[in-house]
Amino acid sequence: MPKNFIIYGYPGAGKTTQVDLLKKSGLQFTHIAVGVLLREIAGLDTPLGRKVKASMASGELVDEDFVLRLVKDALRTADASLPIIFDGYPRSMNQIRGMEEICREYSLEIPTLLCLKITKEEAVRRLTDRRVCSVCKENFSAAALSGAGKCVKCGGELIQREDDKPEAIETRFDLFDLQFGVIRHHYQSLDKYIEIDGMGKVEEVQEQIIRLI
Ligand code: AMP
Repeated sequence: MPKNFIIYGYPGAGKTTQVDLLKKSGLQFTHIAVGVLLREIAGLDTPLGRKVKASMASGELVDEDFVLRLVKDALRTADASLPIIFDGYPRSMNQIRGMEEICREYSLEIPTLLCLKITKEEAVRRLTDRRVCSVCKENFSAAALSGAGKCVKCGGELIQREDDKPEAIETRFDLFDLQFGVIRHHYQSLDKYIEIDGMGKVEEVQEQIIRLI
């Protein structure tokens, strides 16, 4: 059974949703979600915060050296006895090398890449429908909310992520399509590549993941 995983897939494939569900089921692991870490930095009114925010809003990748440092910093404070789920890393050949460096430096087993497969149409539908609470960061479906503008958990204002707007979505998909082949090939050649059908209901996808890990 692999110890460490990368959760991978189109923007909107349900990566963070699935990892959050695994946490709720009581599984103990370290979750390194690069997008979440970057959004925290992007929320800071500092030169770095503004720079990260601008890259993210356009759908481009944030500076890769910076992201590598961010992942290493997150690992420094992690409980070494727990499995790790990397969410949103690696996303390029450069970052695959970064991951190798991380595994050497922290004596980690090379993670198995778990790819949640969904169609582009479904990804666009989900991203366009996504609303996020500006306070507690919980995700909601705009269609399911039927017009309610407040978070049902904390009452915070619901907003659309800048990178869920149409122009940024296009850039994010282009980047994904460009890198997917290389990333899949790399993990397949290590015999560490698993594909899961991500089109079903959240609970069905979760069942498939639990069966695997
Ligand atoms: P996500 O929440 O994983 O969809 O990530 C949101 C945004 O954060 C991406 O569109 C990128 O701008 C940035 N980002 C996330 N992961 C990475 C990464 N590994 N390298 C560079 N930028 C990233």
